[in-house]
Amino acid sequence: MDCLFCKIINKEIPAQIVYEDEHVVAFNDINPQAPTHLLIIPRTHISTLNDISETQTSLIGHMVKSAATIAKQMGFDESGYRTVFNCNEDGGQTVYHIHLHLLGGKAMGWPPY
Ligand code: 5GP
Repeated sequence: MDCLFCKIINKEIPAQIVYEDEHVVAFNDINPQAPTHLLIIPRTHISTLNDISETQTSLIGHMVKSAATIAKQMGFDESGYRTVFNCNEDGGQTVYHIHLHLLGGKAMGWPPY
């Protein structure tokens, strides 16, 4: 499968990996939108949020829990951080392997446009 993030998981394309376990890999975004901008991805290829099966809901929970763990390790759990899943074109998704953005290290605005 020609998937950029599967290639990062398989170490065919380099990335600055900051965390990995049996289920997920987290690495620095190549075009950071905050002082810390990580992408947390499942090792299993899932194209969009629309493609998550009932049996994969615990995997998504693990992605979110991993984001909180990493945020704590990086020291911005108290000051705050943002997590984002983009889905399809209007959601701003450009890579079709689901990923949770973890942004931290600055105060962020809302709404996101
Ligand atoms: P999306 O727009 O799909 O929500 O997010 C995709 C993210 O992947 C973007 O923030 C983009 O900067 C990042 N990205 C795209 N290509 C690469 C790459 O080759 N390496 C890394 N580390 N990040 C990438």
